[in-house]
Amino acid sequence: MILALTGGTGGAKLVQGLAAEIDPADLTVICNTADDAIFHGLHVSPDIDTIVYALAGLNDEEKGWGLAGESFVALEQLRRLGEEVWFNLGDRDLATHILRTDLLRQGVPLSDVTQRIRTALDVKSEILPMSDDRVETRIVTAGGELAFQEYFVRERWAPEVKRVFFAGIDESKPAPRVVQAIGNAAGIVICPSNPVTSIGPILAVPGIRQALREARGKIVGVSPIIARSAISGPAHTLMTVNDLEPSVNGVAKGYADLLDVLMIDREDQYLQNDIKKLGVEPFSANIRMNSLADKQRLARQVLALL
Ligand code: GDP
Repeated sequence: MILALTGGTGGAKLVQGLAAEIDPADLTVICNTADDAIFHGLHVSPDIDTIVYALAGLNDEEKGWGLAGESFVALEQLRRLGEEVWFNLGDRDLATHILRTDLLRQGVPLSDVTQRIRTALDVKSEILPMSDDRVETRIVTAGGELAFQEYFVRERWAPEVKRVFFAGIDESKPAPRVVQAIGNAAGIVICPSNPVTSIGPILAVPGIRQALREARGKIVGVSPIIARSAISGPAHTLMTVNDLEPSVNGVAKGYADLLDVLMIDREDQYLQNDIKKLGVEPFSANIRMNSLADKQRLARQVLALL
């Protein structure tokens, strides 16, 4: 079994490639849940949903989130009713959140809810939340503290960030099967996701980082940073806040205790020696994924390195 650790947008691209290159039933994915939030009373798990929709072939490729061909009638009506609607939730997407919220209220753990949703959508890969416990990424800005989605979606990552922390992380436990999956994996991929707010929370759940250090499978990372900048989103800015250089060196440093190999873009090839000094083997390739062919090519290279 191949195991992938991921957030939403960047990770989903590689996860799609991996599922196309191996039997998807041999792929297990651990998702960040610290971006989860409540909107209009509904529990939304953006990273889990992005991965499930991508693997179900239902995702909106252009937007990078949500379902393809989605309508937003319910959201418009909520706006009319006076609700603040800055987080886009499509009509069919709402069905996922209604079901999730209903099941969570009945006491069903998030991991079982996720299993039910992915099975119903015919996704063969196992999708595991990092934890069934509530963990919340908090962004401390010059103007006060924000929830991750307030910072990322509502404020479009404009505010100056002072500090990032994960409320509830110390009391959280890995979801069932997470530690077991890490131990059983023949190879592990750290997807090109935000090192601070997507992979960061997964690694901070007590027990997960240690399990990865002890894993028998090789660990290969793919950098979300090319030429000192994230391809999308604020990863480079948030890395700086966490004392990580916003470069492939910073990515290597953040994962140095875990990685066997870090895939970097050819543009960053000149930094290979710095990465080697951190005890990580660099491998340079084209790591931009603009098409399914790109995703599959990168996935094949990752699998070969594993
Ligand atoms: P989020 O939950 O939406 O923040 O999703 P992720 O953390 O999974 O994805 C965000 C990261 O994906 C950003 O840091 C991007 O730089 C990275 N990313 C997006 N597209 C690509 C790509 O094609 N290749 C690589 N290597 N990284 C990408």
